Amino acid sequence: MANMAASFTPVDDDLYREIILDHYRRPRHKHAVVPADRTVEANNPLCGDEIDLTLRFDGDDVAEIGFEGRGCSISQASASMLCEAVAGLPADDARMLAHRFRDMLKGEGDDSDIGDLEALSGVRAYPMRVKCATLAWNALLQALDSDDTAVNET
Ligand code: ZN
Repeated sequence: MANMAASFTPVDDDLYREIILDHYRRPRHKHAVVPADRTVEANNPLCGDEIDLTLRFDGDDVAEIGFEGRGCSISQASASMLCEAVAGLPADDARMLAHRFRDMLKGEGDDSDIGDLEALSGVRAYPMRVKCATLAWNALLQALDSDDTAVNET
């Protein structure tokens, strides 16, 4: 916990945990989009997390996005937060957000203006959990950049 204490005040830590648990218990957009333009199945065997991400485009915008899956609170909360953040965004903005999110978890880039997603920044102190948090985002990048694909974290 030393790293967490260095980067957060206890107040932030509690708030962040609360946001993550709220998304885990009441996930947003937890449904398959039908019909979908893209379907990506992502697995993180290290933790047993599974995310099936489906999305539909309207022109260049992500018109609808949803996920199904199971796994730890970090993986499921991250997928829920992703869907909430990305729904309605132009594909380019969604891609940029995914890269910013991954940079945040690598301790690179600028976390400001990333909204509730900052709640997951504390995960970077735990390398095993970074894969849980980035699973859905890697699936999103696959969905934006290619046809139906599977993402396997190893
Ligand atoms: Zn996990």
